[in-house]
Amino acid sequence: MVVTLSQQNQLWSNVLSIVKDRISDRHVFDSFLADSRIHKIDGNKIIVIVNSALAANLLKSNAHYNEIINDALKMVTESQYDLELITSEEVKNFTDKPQPTKHQFFANSVINSKYTFDNFVVGDCNREAVQASILVTAAPGGSFNPNPLFIYSKSGLGKTHLLHAIGNRAKETNPYAKVLYINTDTFIDEFIRYVRGDQESESLKDYFRTVDVLLVDDIQFLSDKNKTSEMFFHIFNTLINSGKQVVLTSDRHPNDLKGLEERLVSRFNMGLSVNIVNPDTPTLIQILKTKISSNGLAVEKFDAEGLVFLAENFNKNIRELEGALNRLIFYTINIKHGERITLDIVKASAQPIMSVKKASKTITEERIIETVADYYHLTEQQIKSKFRTSQIALARHIAMYLCRQLCFTPFIKLGQIFGGRDHSTVISAVDKVRIMLKTDTQLATAINDIQKSLKS
Ligand code: ADP
Ligand code: MG
Repeated sequence: MVVTLSQQNQLWSNVLSIVKDRISDRHVFDSFLADSRIHKIDGNKIIVIVNSALAANLLKSNAHYNEIINDALKMVTESQYDLELITSEEVKNFTDKPQPTKHQFFANSVINSKYTFDNFVVGDCNREAVQASILVTAAPGGSFNPNPLFIYSKSGLGKTHLLHAIGNRAKETNPYAKVLYINTDTFIDEFIRYVRGDQESESLKDYFRTVDVLLVDDIQFLSDKNKTSEMFFHIFNTLINSGKQVVLTSDRHPNDLKGLEERLVSRFNMGLSVNIVNPDTPTLIQILKTKISSNGLAVEKFDAEGLVFLAENFNKNIRELEGALNRLIFYTINIKHGERITLDIVKASAQPIMSVKKASKTITEERIIETVADYYHLTEQQIKSKFRTSQIALARHIAMYLCRQLCFTPFIKLGQIFGGRDHSTVISAVDKVRIMLKTDTQLATAINDIQKSLKS
């Protein structure tokens, strides 16, 4: 049997040398056959590429040439092959023609190598989910593993990222494992096509038998899809019973999945359910920093207060936070090398996508002092006074800074409000806060919180 390319070439060259001797018109051979070659041998069919459609047609339709070639082929191979002549343009169709018996399920489901554990920021909001995910990748399906692992959260908090991270890690751990990531939507589509009979004979269940790690995203879409749920139930049971790892995600706890059969819910509850909650500001800031670096930018160029502003205003959904950051990066594309990305720039870039602005109460110097005093558990007198303990001085400087920012109070007037100080003292206090805000995340968070209370 012919296996290698060089054997194929040898075979055809032997055929051609016989044909050449037998064809009386040398020009026909030179022009139509001399440069022909075997494309492939498929079962008892030999597919040969010739240099034009005319050559293919002529050689096929002319009984004389046909006979010569087929005889030569028979002599060389000592067996009966069907000859098919095609042009090189036809090769593509020929190769890509879907093989009716070999449709691949979930051909478009791939694991995204961009989502890994390395670029997933861990905080209190997602620690358990990450730990459980790492656990199941260490020995997928291992008897002590939570199986299924069920990760649930509101949208945009990292479930899909984690599923892909599990998939990537599982493939690293065992390159031979078949790891399948699918969205429930895709599963439903594939199931519908399968029942409609659009597909080949391999059963969906058989296909899943070959899967070692199954990652199913957004299982809530299965609600009220009875037939699909039933199929999923069988597939799921088969996998779990044969020690294969299953990880599911959903926008809610299994018990809250309405419209899903009880037996499926109770199967989901047999494993471990972990929740991802809204991230806190430090985690969000860390996410921002990670994304800034992964965009090839220097985190140091971004003033801390700008990052805090983004983190606090886009704190419900990391996808939206990323959107705001991408906007900012786009917005600052023309900023010169070395220039800083300040809070004002951040605000200007985020303005159009901020949720409906709260109608703000009028902010006065008195309200600012009162709010800062509250925040630091001080009295208004202490803030206005000349006391110099560091905590009081910090609160006072923040209050001065906010009066400038929010009320545009002249420095001289500020000096009067804050216990009759010289206006240059006020200027240096305000500057000090401005400079600290470039790097001090804690201060930026405090100022942001104070501003929030002022606006509420
Ligand atoms: P979900 O599936 O829960 O709706 P995604 O996994 O699609 O959320 O996450 C939305 C975006 O936020 C993704 O780009 C993801 O990379 C990012 N993301 C979410 N959580 C984190 C995190 N902890 N660290 C880094 N990026 C995160
Ligand atoms: Mg998702």
